[in-house]
Amino acid sequence: MSYFSSRSPISFISAPCPVCIRGTIAEMPMMESLGCNFCSHIFTLEKDIASHQEILRMADTISTLRWIWTGKKWENANAVQVYNSRWLSILGILLVIIPTAIATTAVYLFPTEPDVPLAWFPKFWAIATFCGHLFVLLSITQDYTQFPLQAYWRQIRRAVKPNQPR
Ligand SMILES: [Zn+2]
Repeated sequence: MSYFSSRSPISFISAPCPVCIRGTIAEMPMMESLGCNFCSHIFTLEKDIASHQEILRMADTISTLRWIWTGKKWENANAVQVYNSRWLSILGILLVIIPTAIATTAVYLFPTEPDVPLAWFPKFWAIATFCGHLFVLLSITQDYTQFPLQAYWRQIRRAVKPNQPR
């Protein structure tokens, strides 16, 4: 009797990985946990007492992401739906737009003489403000979702140069 048939009425076997979407999760030998064959994230199953549902929890990071398998797809199991919160998305976009708008407004309100040294600097600063804040937003998102960029990168490199060792 397998771990799944004894513990869970729902079969997670060959379910897609909720993190990378590309790999599949399967039980790990000799362990009470599940692993993804693509991004190598490790998950554990926990039982929700109120709803009697099996919840998949990410176990190898400090992430608090949890999912419920509906039979077709994963659904966020956290009470606070941070993963797809509209408010947080808007806040993130504002984090990028507001500083960029301030820097850009300054460029147009206080235009520099074209001949002075560093005349290019205010425009450069506005662009750098946009790129910097976008980078912060993307790195926070990546931190939270634990999206396996490295696994995808390895896959691309293997596809380009199949003979190269990992
Ligand atoms: Zn995965």
